[in-house]
Amino acid sequence: MGLWGAHLRMTSAAVLLAGLCSCAAVDGERRPPDGVKTQTSEHLVELELVLPQRYQHWRSDLLQDWHHLQIDLEQRLARWPRQTQAVAKSPLRLTITASPADAHFLAERLKLPGNPLVPRTHPGERLALITLPRDDRLLANRAHPPRTWRETVRHEMVHLLACDRPSLGGAPAWFHEGLAEAMVALKPTPFPDVQQSAFGSSWVPNLRELQAVDGGGSMALHTVLAGEASEIRYSAWACLVLQLLQEQKSTRPWQLPFAHPTLAEFLASLPTAYGDVLPSPLPRGRELDFEIGGKELFMASLPSKAVVLQAGSWQARQPLSFQMRVGRTGAAMAGMVLRSQADPNQVLRIRMNTFGAVVASLESLQRPNTRAYQSRPQAGATSGWRDFELQVQNDEYGKAFLQLQSADYKRNFAASFTAPFQIEFYVVDGACEIRSQEPFLPLSHLR
Ligand SMILES: [Zn+2]
Repeated sequence: MGLWGAHLRMTSAAVLLAGLCSCAAVDGERRPPDGVKTQTSEHLVELELVLPQRYQHWRSDLLQDWHHLQIDLEQRLARWPRQTQAVAKSPLRLTITASPADAHFLAERLKLPGNPLVPRTHPGERLALITLPRDDRLLANRAHPPRTWRETVRHEMVHLLACDRPSLGGAPAWFHEGLAEAMVALKPTPFPDVQQSAFGSSWVPNLRELQAVDGGGSMALHTVLAGEASEIRYSAWACLVLQLLQEQKSTRPWQLPFAHPTLAEFLASLPTAYGDVLPSPLPRGRELDFEIGGKELFMASLPSKAVVLQAGSWQARQPLSFQMRVGRTGAAMAGMVLRSQADPNQVLRIRMNTFGAVVASLESLQRPNTRAYQSRPQAGATSGWRDFELQVQNDEYGKAFLQLQSADYKRNFAASFTAPFQIEFYVVDGACEIRSQEPFLPLSHLR
């Protein structure tokens, strides 16, 4: 077994395991005419990719990532020679399951250790297992794998490829995790931004705050990271590993003093203003698909888990219009939260359920509202798009108030709840899509 074991990238992560349809996967361009699986070339190794039937259209994206990663790692990891496939004897395998239930079933059948809902590479078996968060039609209809999930797949692909470099086996877990996390963007730099990975540089402010505490800066980086959330830990390791690979020639760079800086030394190695602004949009949980400046958002959570996207601010000078639809798996609750700087003790929450019914109310942060859905449920077997429009209106005395309209459902909110607003979209135990005619995921920053 390798040293890295369970991969805990993102605590609320969902990746999938399992495809029970055994489709041996090969790179189409290099597949021998007789279909026999062989080593594809001196430099490219096949991946045996098992994808559930409903997600077969993602195969080319994932195999493309596999090839790009190999080409990149061939240079970065040249000092740790790769064993040939003849020595390896068995292929490297990635199995995707369509749902957590399938993941549990497969892990039991293969007697694999650990929580099968956590993406994980089993080096002894040369096998990575990743599950999709739920087998929802909205997810299956995506033309490409969701952004955060694809990042997780690339992370596990790096662990798989590391299996073929035996001299890397002596590296500590933090080096393996940092290496895998560094490659989620395909074009990694030591200082990734939100264009490269969904989480961007949002981990840096936490570490700068720790440094500001008395004596915090003189603590060993690895000691500090041990107490941090996995997102922060993995991102910092990724940064450190890329710097090590770039600046050190040793075949055991993890033993050098460079690999064991204090927190202050590590932060001093980052660009001065790096991480000073929180990226927006900023995701929490998994899985999400979005682009900076985009008009569309997809979110899907593991059963009973939440996914949130802090989507930026709205000044309310123009109406805010969007459409939303909710998948029909789970007890889905999806919607939007607006926060007002002028009224920080409550939020405006819009909820939509799997039947397309909605309710919106101002809620105290101390006592969340559990008001019943009030609008008419949508007809039909599949979820439909529902329109929402928020805008500021004036009452008969000229006083401004916020109004929500969604088909037959209209609500006015207290005049004290005023712009600017911070916007969050979320889904709990389900999947949803949100879209707009105009870009609604900002290019700007939250602070
Ligand atoms: Zn990992």
